[in-house]
Amino acid sequence: MSRETVDNFDEDADVNSVKVASNINISERQRQTLIEVVDDIAGEEVRKVTLVLLNADQETTDEEISEKLDMRLNQVRKSLYKLYDLQLATFRRIRDKSTGWFVYFWTLHPERIDMFVDRKQQEVMEKLLERLAYEEGNMFFTCNNPECPRVTFQEAMDNNFECEHCEGRLESFDNEQLKQVLTEKITEMKEIRDKTRKIMKGET
Ligand SMILES: [Zn+2]
Repeated sequence: MSRETVDNFDEDADVNSVKVASNINISERQRQTLIEVVDDIAGEEVRKVTLVLLNADQETTDEEISEKLDMRLNQVRKSLYKLYDLQLATFRRIRDKSTGWFVYFWTLHPERIDMFVDRKQQEVMEKLLERLAYEEGNMFFTCNNPECPRVTFQEAMDNNFECEHCEGRLESFDNEQLKQVLTEKITEMKEIRDKTRKIMKGET
């Protein structure tokens, strides 16, 4: 069965004889990005677990990681499932013939970090574009009280141009500056994406 297409499957086996070798072949940049990203969004413990998997030359069980890090099994499992959620690790489940218990063999997929970063950058870009479209597509009104929210033309009209919160008079709000900041951020993000993609391409 191909490891490329199947992330997990069950089988009955002698646990000690079935470990598949890890083929971790990534650049130093990918390695560093992976560690930074994991630390950033998942925290210290997940980073530690990631490092164990990254340095393993074959699949690793949660118990082995627990022993190596002197970390509670529960915590190791939580960290592993976090990596699974992020699509950076997969597991194979095997039933130990002698005990009848399931054993989980974990593999890290550090090469997926590029796809992950690309997807995150795309998400940020889409949010910025959406926000800019919202700012460009609406007229806004404000009572000039910093504690009250800004409202759209429709909302202002529905309330006879009176603030719902402080009953102050609603006046037109100039969002030119906000639009400018958003446009700058979009340009910046586009440059970051172009640069990242160029680096990724250069390595493959
Ligand atoms: Zn108000």
